This record gives sequence, structure tokens and C-alpha cells, in this order.
Amino acid sequence: EPVPPDEPARRLQAQGVQLVQLVYADVLGVHKGLTLPVLQAAAAWGDGVRVDGASLEGFMRIEEREMRLRAGGEAVFVLPWTPADERVAAVPAAIYTREGQPFEGCPRERLRRAVGRLDGLGVAVEFAFEMEFYLLRRHRGRPEVRVPDRAGYLDLSVRDAGEPVRQAVALALERMGVVVESVHHAVAPAQHEIDLGWQPPLTAADHLLVAKRTVYAVAERHGMHATFLPKPRTGSHGSGLHVRMRLRPLPGAPWSRAALTRHWLAGLLQHARPLCAITNPLVNSYKRLVPGFEAPVYVVWGQETHAPLARLVAGWEAGELEWRAPDPCCHPYLALAVLLRAGADGLERRLEPPPPLEENVFELDPAEIGARGIEPLPGSLGEALDDMRVSAVVRDALGEYLFTRYLEAKRMEWDIYRVQVHQWELDQYLPVF
Ligand code: GLN
Ligand code: MG
Ligand code: MG
Repeated sequence: EPVPPDEPARRLQAQGVQLVQLVYADVLGVHKGLTLPVLQAAAAWGDGVRVDGASLEGFMRIEEREMRLRAGGEAVFVLPWTPADERVAAVPAAIYTREGQPFEGCPRERLRRAVGRLDGLGVAVEFAFEMEFYLLRRHRGRPEVRVPDRAGYLDLSVRDAGEPVRQAVALALERMGVVVESVHHAVAPAQHEIDLGWQPPLTAADHLLVAKRTVYAVAERHGMHATFLPKPRTGSHGSGLHVRMRLRPLPGAPWSRAALTRHWLAGLLQHARPLCAITNPLVNSYKRLVPGFEAPVYVVWGQETHAPLARLVAGWEAGELEWRAPDPCCHPYLALAVLLRAGADGLERRLEPPPPLEENVFELDPAEIGARGIEPLPGSLGEALDDMRVSAVVRDALGEYLFTRYLEAKRMEWDIYRVQVHQWELDQYLPVF
């Protein structure tokens, strides 16, 4: 029984919502949206709202002129920090063509397809995120990289300038129906973590989008600047987005949960390098993936190891994996789409993972690492893009359209960065050479 399009809009009106915001992330993961008065909002669940196609992808151009934004599903998030007489509800949106077909370049659509394929394979996957970020002060309107607190992991301190923000974010999310497992101060000064509850893939991505938006908005209201930049400070911990996955075979599936989890892990490890191009999308992302800050650097997995790429959380039978490479600047929908595709590839090809590494990889010498065939993660965005370019799995997950556009945009970003002369080079070399 399809829901009549004015039904969700009427429900929102009854809840006192005045404005409906169709929100999505463009190809580069930048938040975009369009606001409708609630009286017009039925269109969001009906024919969709007209948008200029050229604006859908950041600075990329596309041929299709007129596109439509539609509600991606039933999910609505009433933003509790908006004033009662200008109450806004955010609605994760999908992009459609003028003819009303799902647009192949729509990130949410790519994730929906990846999920559809899983049903065919007989697997159910749920995700939970551990999202890290920094809360900085502003000086003359600009974020200051000097940190406003000296607190550390799990510290409860009156000197933690970010605590009120962190707690207000948790409450706001709960009020919107985004389950928060817990919030805490992370390892580095000014760094915080919010752990979100288990959700099926599309809901998980919707929640991540909304959670990031909430962190930005609540920080702003407290006069602070929130950043998800993977490595905002030289010499301090970076901000990751550890992605936990819980796998379950559907009734009638031909493998046990343990076998499913093994093949899935093997698939992720096999495609670890090209996956980084999507899960670690910025030049800055690769400054996080270095030794010394609990971030992964090598393609290794274990149960107890220090900073592995993948962790088997509680034995094969429990079906839970933690994938630690991603950072919170990744595109929520595209990141989950490629992770699902890589895991599914391992399952389809019945791949087996290499043996776990239970020692600290950072204590092995380079020769030993080479001798054991341990691969490093990409050292730069450029390297990751080289691997992505030849990855059939990433191409398949993104579809031809997004695959090409993403590579083009990111290659340009890398090429612009590559030719910059940085302050470090001047400080280091000018006096000497
Ligand atoms: N900040 C670390 C990272 O970059 C993770 C820290 C932790 O949760 N142990 O992934
Ligand atoms: Mg953590
Ligand atoms: Mg973790």
C-alpha cells in the first residue's frame, strides 16, 4: 500500500513543523539542501522538487539540466535546535531524473542498489559508526587550531570546553530518533567521539549525514567550530570514522555466520587500498594514516592488535567486524556502498582472509613487513586514486557515472595540491639549500 504523498507532509504539519529541508551530500560529500514551506512539502514525497542539475555535484558539470529531489524514504528528522515558530525537519533526499527515474549518479541510489544485491546474496548487514571530531574555538571568525582544552580519553573535566557541546549533540540526536550509544572525550585535546547505534545501511547513512549536520549546528550555537577534518593538527591524533559491521545470513543462505564473516573480511582486505579513495577522500586524510596515533597504516587484521585495519570484535560466530580506515569526511552513502560491494565480492568468490597479525605491526622492521607480504595502505590521495582507477569493485559499486566524475574531481584536487609549495618546505629548506 503506497503512502499518499501528502501523508508525511501532513504528519509534519501536525507536529508543528513549518519548513522541510531536502538534504543530501553531493559527489564530494558536501552537504546540500533545499527548503520548502511545509504546505508545499507533499511534492517531496510526490513528483519531487525541481533543481538545476548542474548544481548537484559541487563544481562538476552534468548534461542533464533539470533534475528532481525527492524524499529518499520515510525518514524525517525534526531539528530540535530550530525555533518553535520556524521548526525545520530534515529529510534525506534522493536525486531523480525529470522523467521520474532514479538518477544513476545519485549516491543514495547507489547504496540502495548495493543493499538490493545483498538481499540476492542472502546477507543482512547492519552498521554502527564511531565518529570522531574536534571542537575548536574561533578567533575573529576563523577557527583556531590552538586547542581549547587539555582533556584526554574519557576525561570528565571542567576544563573540557567541548563537553557542553558533546552532550547537547547527544540529546539533540536522541530527540530526532538517531540512537546514540555513547559520547565521550577522545584521545587528543579538543577531540570528541560519538558512537551511533546499529542500523541497516540506508538508515545508517541517513543518520550519519544528520549527525554530522547536528554536530556542526550545535557547536555553532555554542560559539565553537566543529571539524571532521581527518588530521587537523600536526602531532595530534586524527579523527576516524570506525565502521562496525554486523553480518547475518538470511534464512536459506548457504553459509554459516562464521563463514560469511570470514569471506566478508577477506573481501574487504583484498580491496582495502582502492576502498581508501572513497573512505579517505581528502588530501588531508592520508596524514591521519601514519604510525603513532592509533590509526591503521597496514592491511592487517586481528582481534587484539594495536591499530589494525580490521578487527574481529568477538570471534567469527558473532559476525562483527570493525573497519578502522574510514574518516568522517567520507561520503556516507558512497562509503557504505563500496564497503558492501567489497565484502560481497569476498563472499561471492569465497575468499579466505590471511592469518591474523596479533603482534604490533609498528614494532616489526620494514624487512619483516615485506617478507610477510604485508601491504601498506595508500600513502597519499594520489596513490589511492591510482588503485581506485583499476578497481572493478569500486567501479561497480559507484556505477560508471559517479566513478568517472569522482575520479576526475579528486584527481584535479590532488594535482592542485601536488604543485603547492608548503610552509614546511620553506622553513626546512630555504635556510639550508
Ligand atoms: N583516532 C583514532 C583514529 O584515527 C582512533 C582512536 C581510537 O578509537 N582508539 O582512528
Ligand atoms: Mg573509538
Ligand atoms: Mg573503534
